[in-house]
Amino acid sequence: MLSYDLVIIGAGPAGLSAAVSAYDAGIRSILVIERDDRLGGILNQCIHNGFGLHMFKEELTGPEYAQRFIDQVAKRGIECRQGTMVMDISSDKLVTAMNSRDGMFQIQARAIILAMGCRERSRGALNIPGYRPAGIFSAGTAQRLVNMEGQMPGHKVVILGSGDIGLIMARRMTLEGAKVQVVAELMPYSGGLKRNIVQCLNDFDIPLKLSHTVVDIEGKDRVQAVTIAQVDEKGRPIPGTEERYECDTLLLSCGLIPENELSRSSGVTLSPVTRGPVVNDALETSVPGIFAAGNVLHVHDLADYASQEAADAGRHAAEYIHALNAGKQTVSDRAEISASSAVNPKSSSAGSEESALQEIIPVLATDGVRYTVPQLVRPASMAESLTLRFRVGAEFRDMAVALYFNDQKISSRKKRVMAPGEMEEIKLKKSQLADFPNLKSIRLAIESSRSE
Ligand SMILES: Cc1cc2nc3c(=O)[nH]c(=O)nc-3n(C[C@H](O)[C@H](O)[C@H](O)COP(=O)(O)OP(=O)(O)OC[C@H]3O[C@@H](n4cnc5c(N)ncnc54)[C@H](O)[C@@H]3O)c2cc1C
Repeated sequence: MLSYDLVIIGAGPAGLSAAVSAYDAGIRSILVIERDDRLGGILNQCIHNGFGLHMFKEELTGPEYAQRFIDQVAKRGIECRQGTMVMDISSDKLVTAMNSRDGMFQIQARAIILAMGCRERSRGALNIPGYRPAGIFSAGTAQRLVNMEGQMPGHKVVILGSGDIGLIMARRMTLEGAKVQVVAELMPYSGGLKRNIVQCLNDFDIPLKLSHTVVDIEGKDRVQAVTIAQVDEKGRPIPGTEERYECDTLLLSCGLIPENELSRSSGVTLSPVTRGPVVNDALETSVPGIFAAGNVLHVHDLADYASQEAADAGRHAAEYIHALNAGKQTVSDRAEISASSAVNPKSSSAGSEESALQEIIPVLATDGVRYTVPQLVRPASMAESLTLRFRVGAEFRDMAVALYFNDQKISSRKKRVMAPGEMEEIKLKKSQLADFPNLKSIRLAIESSRSE
């Protein structure tokens, strides 16, 4: 059987960045497995610019950005197997994969990094009434057709959902000669980045109708028209507000979900909010030695942040392997992540297992904060500085992000605008935690900025 110190699943910007940083931290036995025939992940189809501003201080297209990492992987001679699909991961880190050359085979890993990215929410899950004619595509499928296969999905387009891929495809289809009539968004705010609303809709006079949804699709063989209507605060269509658009194409851009089947099969605890694994400050899941980063962990707004996070995961996986090699007990051996402590933080400090769990502090998302990653922090073994990434659950203006240790406010930072489409972050210093005796919880909350 094959064996590697580190197996990385997925060769998108997260998987490649994790491989480079694990290599640079001294790990030489690394295998990156990618189901596609080429490395780079979803960025191969994102031919617009806007990537790399944070990582490389340059504005790159998706393929250019991916190529930077592909080159770094090649320069280090890191082994990659493309065209290979991972079918299963067991909790003892046995990876089952298959490809057309080797058939089904198994690899024993000492550590694994999950970097499988995300997928789009399907139409089936969205319950749109009407027939199921041709002409309905997810925005990502349309992006692949236009940018990689040179095919136009249609010419008169309605888009449901204002996630970033939908916004980017509104511009792309317009540039390719299509008429994008409207973008309808169920929520009272956009799911995408502000910069994409300005550059992809406003600059092309494409209307964005918030609090609207599709109520009817006409056409039996091919979409002929789509009717949208305004919705009330419970998401119910308001009679009399219907608008009918003749079109041949409906693009769906209704959110992304972490690709979590393999995470589930490996037995890691998943967060009901992010739908990705629950992780500690080392980005290690509830299964010791299995780490996660990028969109498989939580959906990122920028690929740059996915790469930065994955570089951390690569370093932590390397530390884990070095500790195994040195015969040292790893931190995860001493105190496994308690899934229930993330979901129900009160349970973390209670009970007879207190001594095993006392080093793990839950990070609570409250008062408008939808989730944080990581969800757990180990003050004794965390890095000197930790980036806590989070998203809010609604749009907030002129409010503050407050950080609490137990019930004590530690800091408060004013923000002019916070929106669900934009990822936020806050830094935690190890020294701050060390200075706080009896720390039981870390909490983030959105509060009035006047209460400071
Ligand atoms: C359709 C689409 C369009 C997007 N457009 C943009 C954009 O324009 N700008 C932007 O900033 N972000 C965009 N994103 C978000 C983008 O995914 C992230 O910014 C970034 O690519 C995340 O990197 P990643 O490595 O986590 O995931 P990915 O780039 O998705 O890479 C994951 C890789 O894992 C592989 N994989 C998955 N399962 C397996 C398996 N079982 N076995 C082997 N390999 C596997 C996949 O083939 C893929 O190559 C888009 C996402 C989607 C889905």
